[in-house]
Amino acid sequence: MAKIIDGKAVSAAVKEQVKDEIARERLDIGLAVVIVGDDPASRVYVNNKKKACEFCGIKSYEYALPEDTTEAELLELIDTLNGDAKVNGILVQLPLPKQLDEKTIIEHISPMKDVDAFHESNVGRIMIGNYAFLPCTPAGCMELIRSTGVEVSGKECVVIGRSNIVGKPMAMLLLHENGTVTVCHSKTKNLAEVCSRADILIAAVGRANFVTADMVKEGAVVIDVGINRLENGKLCGDVKFDEVSEKAGYITPVPGGVGPMTIAMLMKNTVMAKRIQSGI
Ligand code: NAD
Repeated sequence: MAKIIDGKAVSAAVKEQVKDEIARERLDIGLAVVIVGDDPASRVYVNNKKKACEFCGIKSYEYALPEDTTEAELLELIDTLNGDAKVNGILVQLPLPKQLDEKTIIEHISPMKDVDAFHESNVGRIMIGNYAFLPCTPAGCMELIRSTGVEVSGKECVVIGRSNIVGKPMAMLLLHENGTVTVCHSKTKNLAEVCSRADILIAAVGRANFVTADMVKEGAVVIDVGINRLENGKLCGDVKFDEVSEKAGYITPVPGGVGPMTIAMLMKNTVMAKRIQSGI
């Protein structure tokens, strides 16, 4: 039976560290969170980010814009935030309404304030291993793997999913830690066979109960990034938890696994942004 990796506990420890660091050094840090429209899931994420800021001692500035905000209006706000010394990090909650091009918006954020690490220059730095900001969700997964005591170096690592915000940067972080990394996607052949070679398996697909026990190696570390809402309203991951937990060595639950880590890593990145901007 797998050991459950407690994402809430690991994330609480990271946030405690961030809080102590800010208090000890009396850092004055601000995070601007921009939300456009009234998507209920985005609202929950933004509220959780604000709560984490409050806990850590980071000032949060919320900009809630109407659904019909134009690109010019949003770009103007980002210009203002880029130039505002009180604001060390800028986060634009995705997804955005249709009239707003996500790429244009993200590329407009100053790379030094891009605490989500979505800007092309930060993505490029992740590729070459010279990064300031870690992409929050993959970095959270790395913390969870670290918490098991299992070394990545030399291990077979399989990432299912190749999105720019999870799959690809996840593969890079594992590679930088000397894992032997395979990235699977919707066109991968023999997926179950590839996955069952993994000592460390990361599922970032966005399909409920996609990873079944036959795809998992005995004793593997299984990290479930997926957040899927079932018809009964319950949240579930990409991994069929009941059967996979019988076979894996370590497994993250959903909720309470990767989700809380993403916000904790955002707090870390915001402190990093302050340090970069003030040269400390
Ligand atoms: P995405 O839709 O951009 O990417 C999904 C990936 O899965 C694609 O690369 C696709 O090739 C792959 N895929 C789809 N069908 C497949 C199949 N049959 N076989 C193999 N691969 C297949 O999604 P994303 O943004 O990377 O997010 C993935 C999941 O992670 C979603 O459930 C999302 O909600 C969740 N997520 C969670 C957090 C968190 O904080 N916990 C953060 C970001 C995303």
